[in-house]
Formats: sequence, C-alpha cells, structure tokens
Amino acid sequence: MQSKFFSNWVVANRTTLIRGTAGENAYLLEGDKYALLIDTLTGAGNLRAYCRELTDLPIHVALTHGHADHSGGCFDFGVCSMHPDDIRFLYDDTTVKHRREHIENSNGGSTFVQWTDLTPPSALRTYPLYDDDSFDLGGRVIEVIHVPGHSLGSLVFLERVQRIVFTGDCCNPHTLLYLDGSTSIPDYKKGLLHFREWQREFDWLLSGHGNDPHPPQVIDDAILLCDKILEGSDDAEEWGFYRAPFYFARRKDKDDGLIANIGYRKDWILRVPPYRMAPLPNY
Ligand SMILES: [Zn+2]
Repeated sequence: MQSKFFSNWVVANRTTLIRGTAGENAYLLEGDKYALLIDTLTGAGNLRAYCRELTDLPIHVALTHGHADHSGGCFDFGVCSMHPDDIRFLYDDTTVKHRREHIENSNGGSTFVQWTDLTPPSALRTYPLYDDDSFDLGGRVIEVIHVPGHSLGSLVFLERVQRIVFTGDCCNPHTLLYLDGSTSIPDYKKGLLHFREWQREFDWLLSGHGNDPHPPQVIDDAILLCDKILEGSDDAEEWGFYRAPFYFARRKDKDDGLIANIGYRKDWILRVPPYRMAPLPNY
C-alpha cells in the first residue's frame, strides 16, 4: 500500500511490520477477534487510517515503552495499554516539535515531514500493563514481560507459538541507558535476568528499529556487558554527549562475536537520579 509516511511487510504469520519516517518499527498482530498494534511510531501521518487499510479487525494499541518514536502515533487512537512507569513520556516527550526534530535527525538533518503532518498530543486513555499480563487476540496469545533498563516501564511481548518476542528498544546492538528515565546498570541486569527466564521460548527478537531480528544470544551478551561495566573492564568507548558524556561498553568496531552493546553514563552506573516530569502546564 502506497504511503509517504509508512511502509509495511509481513514478518511472521498474521504479523506485519510497519515502518515509520524515522526508521522505527511498529507491529500489527492479527488474531481471530482483534488485532494488537505494538507501538505507534513517531506520529507522522495517520497510523490509524493506515492500519485500517491493513486489517478490518478492531485494533488495540500496546506500547513497548513511552518514548516518542514509539508512542507518538497513539494520539491517532486515543487509547493504549502501557506500563504506568512510562506514562510520563506521553507528556514530556511527545510535543510536535520534539517528534519532528527526531524524524529530521534520523534522516540526516532533513525531512519532508511537516509540523502539520504530526498528530498533536491530546487526552489519551491509558490502560496499565504489567509483567505477566497477556492479550488473547483470538487463537493467538501474547504475553507481557517487564524488562526495565532503557526505560523504567519497558515491556516486551512474547508469542510462544511463533517463537518470537517484540522488544522495542530494551535489548539490541545499541541499547541506550543514558536517557532520562533509564535505569542503573544493576537494575538493567535484573531486568535482563528476568527476561532470560523466557529465553527458551523464542528464536528471534524483533526490535523497534532496523530490519534485522536478533537471536536470543543478545540477552546473554547484554548481561555480560552489564557485569563488565560494573567491574570497570568494558571498553568504555566515549561516543558522544547527551546532557553528559556517554560511552559504549564495547568498541563499535570490535569483532568479539557479541551482538549486544550498551550506551551508558558513567555517573549513572550505580544510581540514576529520579526522573521528574516537566511542570504541568497552567490551565
Ligand atoms: Zn526508546
């Protein structure tokens, strides 16, 4: 289906990847009763209308986490399920200005997307989603696992039958832990150890960005890197500045057979200051 904002392709049985203008991924999972949309992209173009062309089923939205490149399209639906710890991002992170800048930065500094192409934030009904919750789409069950790290409320969605898990930004070759609302390294490791309890139930992790699924080994790698960061034996390659210098645990050019990498702040290794929401607007 032609759209300048979206493209899509089938990645598993009754499972469609939808790609947004910033290279981000959402997944539309169709059951017999309803469809589950995992993540909503940055919100350029009308994702709800696009999904209506892909399925006639009612669509429920669930978010892997609250960052704007995953939650921005929520405002086309007016309702979503997500972990309560990430609701703050829907207020702090989703301004039209911020989302357009994100799209621009993801495309080398320019984009055809206009401000008016982005659905502005509006009142949104949020249903709380916790570890061990599940969705029964009709002949298709999707289980929820809480993996804090990238954000406090990061969730992954497991489908045992097809042996796939939808992971958002929680564990991949460039997991970022230096963002507002990320956790400390020990808390991330705890989240990964929890995630690993299900490791035998899936063959591939489908993430929130990029084309390539990752094998379950990426979880073991990330746990190993957490240990190295805590010991001070990681590569600590200085990579950039986001409110403070940040580092990657493995040199980007390293050929050591590992897949995972972790971007982190040295002053946040053991403790991250609480993330405060911006002050409420004046009503
Ligand atoms: Zn994110």
